Amino acid sequence: MYKLNNRVRDYAWGSKTLIADYLGRRPSGAPEAEMWMGAHPGAPSVALLNRGHARLDELIDADPEGLLGPDSRAAFGNALPFLMKVLAAESPLSLQVHPTREQAATGFAAEEALRVPKDAPTRNYKDPNHKPEMILALTDFEALCGFRSATEAKEIVDTLVTFFQETGADVPRLLPHLSSTLARPDEPTAIQQAFAGLIRGGDEVSGTVSAVALMLASSIPEGPHAAAMKTALMLNEAYPGDPGVLISLLLNRVSLRPGEAVYLPAGNIHAYLHGLGIEVMASSDNVLRGGLTTKHIDVDELLRTVVFTPLPVPRLATTSPAKGHLIWQPPFDEFQLQRIELEPGTRHPELPAGVPVIVLVASGSGVVEARRQTLELGKGDTAFLGAKENPVTLRAGAKEPLVAFVATIGIHEPVPH
Ligand SMILES: [Zn+2]
Repeated sequence: MYKLNNRVRDYAWGSKTLIADYLGRRPSGAPEAEMWMGAHPGAPSVALLNRGHARLDELIDADPEGLLGPDSRAAFGNALPFLMKVLAAESPLSLQVHPTREQAATGFAAEEALRVPKDAPTRNYKDPNHKPEMILALTDFEALCGFRSATEAKEIVDTLVTFFQETGADVPRLLPHLSSTLARPDEPTAIQQAFAGLIRGGDEVSGTVSAVALMLASSIPEGPHAAAMKTALMLNEAYPGDPGVLISLLLNRVSLRPGEAVYLPAGNIHAYLHGLGIEVMASSDNVLRGGLTTKHIDVDELLRTVVFTPLPVPRLATTSPAKGHLIWQPPFDEFQLQRIELEPGTRHPELPAGVPVIVLVASGSGVVEARRQTLELGKGDTAFLGAKENPVTLRAGAKEPLVAFVATIGIHEPVPH
């Protein structure tokens, strides 16, 4: 097992303080958007060895059986199947959707064959993997997630139309058009057409976005959709005139309390708006953007990828096998997340065994103990435990309670003890 050094990505939407505060570190002064814990080649963690250090992906390449174990290798091959992040959004991320494994494999192969450079702005697929993900809120966490019903979306658009009429302003032609599109009988098709009409952008869309934002800036109509409209106004401040401002009104507006989680399967369009969370995903960086961005949007590929069927917010329930032990198991094989809270001096009997594990100490301090090795971890420290370290226990320091997050593969059955 190894202590890890993890890269912090400085994407512009990142908070300058949340990650540093949470992990008990000094802020860098730059935006700190995501800390990556894992072996994704985009920003692999670095393992601290007795002498020197090594990239975690290279250590795994050199000993896949010892570090990943037979179950993980049989299911996912010779790479660590999951990636864990601490994510801190100060301002909204792009609307985005992730492909299925088949789409990613086909798309990646096609772009490789065309020799599109991996960092080209038009490149869609950075790797051949899908990227189902989950996010667990550590603070209040705001997001857009999947389509609301066409009826609800139409209600919002109609409220805007009425609002324009009441104030005597000209109603932008696009709004009644959007309303009648959303009223079409086949719901997924209605939503798809509404979305497709907006995402292609152009002067009419950006003019309507600006007119709506100007109207909402004067006041927000009261009622059940005030939060959605406030969000649209806020999004226009970050991305003026962007089609994503109107698209956001078609989406579920989600507020998570700390400890609540959602999972995002392939095809679910979503955007994180604000807050600190722990995100776990299949080890992939495949993102198709769908608005709220100045970057490239491949509209055709996007329309092939987004699932337009409205769905309730995919909230993820926890199970609790013992006091202080919570498990979030989304319906994906690649990963699960656990939270372990221990009273001072007490011990968690056994961390997941025979599989790869990443541990993050969120508060307090503790010791990871395997047969031949122990690792002391303080607040903000992380460790990788290879499959061959078996069994491994976690003990809290004598003075404070310990809170640790543990990510591992999803198909793993807990070993009885
Ligand atoms: Zn995502």
